[in-house]
Formats: sequence, structure tokens, C-alpha cells
Amino acid sequence: MNNCDHFNVADLKTDSEYVCQECVKTGDTWVHLRTCQTCGGTHCCNSSKNKHATKHFLATGHPVVISAEPGERWAWCYEDEVFIRY
Ligand SMILES: [Zn+2]
Ligand SMILES: [Zn+2]
Ligand SMILES: [Zn+2]
Repeated sequence: MNNCDHFNVADLKTDSEYVCQECVKTGDTWVHLRTCQTCGGTHCCNSSKNKHATKHFLATGHPVVISAEPGERWAWCYEDEVFIRY
């Protein structure tokens, strides 16, 4: 089992804009949203056709996202492949 040293719940980043910033540029739609814990950017999940959250990790190496969905309190670390409830 992997451990994640990247996620710090005391420094939780949320985004006031509840949209995928990349999908908005191209006029696409998304299913769920994830917020990057390094830069605070919000992107769409892997159920969305553009998978911008995963693309953001691959492009930037920012390892941790949280669910941006209201009422959901969990994080995912791409680097450690670990699911974190907080
Ligand atoms: Zn990690
Ligand atoms: Zn997107
Ligand atoms: Zn980021």
C-alpha cells in the first residue's frame, strides 16, 4: 500500500469557479470536476471525454487533485496512485 506525502489537508485548495477551465475554452462539456492541490486549477475527471485533470498531471507533474463536487471529501494522488479521504 502506498502512502502519500503530497496531500496536506491543512492547505486545502478549492476553486471558486465550478468549471473545467480547459473545456470552457473549447466549448466542451464534462462529467465531474477535480481541483489541483498544487496550483488550484480545476479540470474534468476521467469520466469526461477530455480527461483534463489527468492531462494536467501529465503536463505539469502536479500530483494531487481533490474532488470539486459538493459534499465529496476525497483526494487522489496520481504519483502514488493513492485514494485519500479527508
Ligand atoms: Zn502523493
Ligand atoms: Zn475539461
Ligand atoms: Zn496544477
